[in-house]
Amino acid sequence: MKYISTRGEAPSLGFADVTLAGLARDGGLYVPETWPRLSPESIAGLAGRPFHEIAVEVIAPFTAGEVSRADLAVMARDAYAQFGHPAVTPLVQIGPDRWVLELFHGPTLAFKDVAMQLLARLMDHMLAKRGERATIVAATSGDTGGAAIEAFRGSSLVDVVILFPDGRVSDVQRRMMTTPNEANVHAVAVDGTFDDCQAQVKAMFNHLAFRDRLKLSAVNSINWARIVAQVTYYFAAGAALGAPHRKLSFVVPTGNFGDILAGWVARQMGLPIEQLVIASNANDILPRTVATGIYETRGVVPTTSPSMDIQVSSNFERFLFEAVGRDAAVIRGQMASLAQSGRFDLGAAKARLQAEFNAAAADEGQVAETIRATERATGYLAEPHTACAIFAADRAPAGTAQVILATAHPAKFPDAMQEITGRRPGLPPRLSSLVSEPERVSVVANDRDAIERFIEARSRVVGGGAS
Ligand SMILES: *Cc1c(COP(=O)(O)O)cnc(C)c1O
Repeated sequence: MKYISTRGEAPSLGFADVTLAGLARDGGLYVPETWPRLSPESIAGLAGRPFHEIAVEVIAPFTAGEVSRADLAVMARDAYAQFGHPAVTPLVQIGPDRWVLELFHGPTLAFKDVAMQLLARLMDHMLAKRGERATIVAATSGDTGGAAIEAFRGSSLVDVVILFPDGRVSDVQRRMMTTPNEANVHAVAVDGTFDDCQAQVKAMFNHLAFRDRLKLSAVNSINWARIVAQVTYYFAAGAALGAPHRKLSFVVPTGNFGDILAGWVARQMGLPIEQLVIASNANDILPRTVATGIYETRGVVPTTSPSMDIQVSSNFERFLFEAVGRDAAVIRGQMASLAQSGRFDLGAAKARLQAEFNAAAADEGQVAETIRATERATGYLAEPHTACAIFAADRAPAGTAQVILATAHPAKFPDAMQEITGRRPGLPPRLSSLVSEPERVSVVANDRDAIERFIEARSRVVGGGAS
């Protein structure tokens, strides 16, 4: 399988290069040259099989020629053994025709573990084959950092440096980054905001001499291997509920458009999905785009679902590329307009967007009311990201069974939950030691030289740090 850039001006690459590179050199995102398909019989045959086996069936077509099925099977088994539920992503029925797909049973209680646990093993495997090392640098506003540190802790070939804004992540989120004590993971509290952290990461990637010397790599949500790993649970849930014979709708809490894009990929691969519903919080760029055909950025407002507080949904470009008939020149024009004026017109792609997606946005009052009403009616306690999806599901066209993706455990957002429900959700028992383990964190100034010196002194790519 080869991959091409949505901007059409970077060389096509194989799976390993795409995974290690992140963004294409022309600023675009890599997509597969063609979409593999699973036959109706093979989809039906997934029902009842272990999650890690379904992962192999779904992912193998994308890694063909670069990672053997046997190696992929070992990595998937190991990755999903880290989860606290035997079904890995269990379904919980909360209504006659409504299920919650719980994606939060991984080590850091958010859905990002599903992809990150496999990505870490894939990266180690591909680097070992090449005899290379890498340094992963990422900024986090909360969930990504912990998932990356958990996934890569102890890796012999990858060092991980996570920048987070000092004092601006929740206690649970910080402890998930600072309590792992392996020498290859580094949580760095930057004296600044999340935007400062992100700007520092961008500056390091643009500092080409540093980037090449440290072999910087990215694991953010545009990483193709992460998208592919997320396709698995759409097929697992679909088959468990009777696909391909029964049509289902999926409702997805959406930020960077990675999770819902994976659902769209599942549809491209042959999973019959009736509706794909984009659920947003007050940051409603995508619902506005579905309604108007104009993609227009506005300022970000902070909410109780911080992982969806975004201004631009990076992965949207991958869908758009398909919707404009894979015409990279059109994408280049739209992205230039976005960079210049903060908006672009979808043009003819609007019809395809409206045909493939529904969308709704919940404001903060609606999120709180949805959490309380859902618990009253069903006994199910949803956290704020998931509540946005329940809100959107209530407003989607009726008639098909709905699967609502639950992207985090309520204990990850204890302050918001206390405010909304009056109760503070406790951590699952397997994480109870989190509050007592010693923390290890470095505080660094919001200064590129200082951050680069910190990384240089620790990355094993340049001989720093422990061996
Ligand atoms: C990252 C995240 C999201 C948004 O997912 P995208 O793939 O960026 O759309 C939603 N909920 C939670 C809890 C997250 O951590």
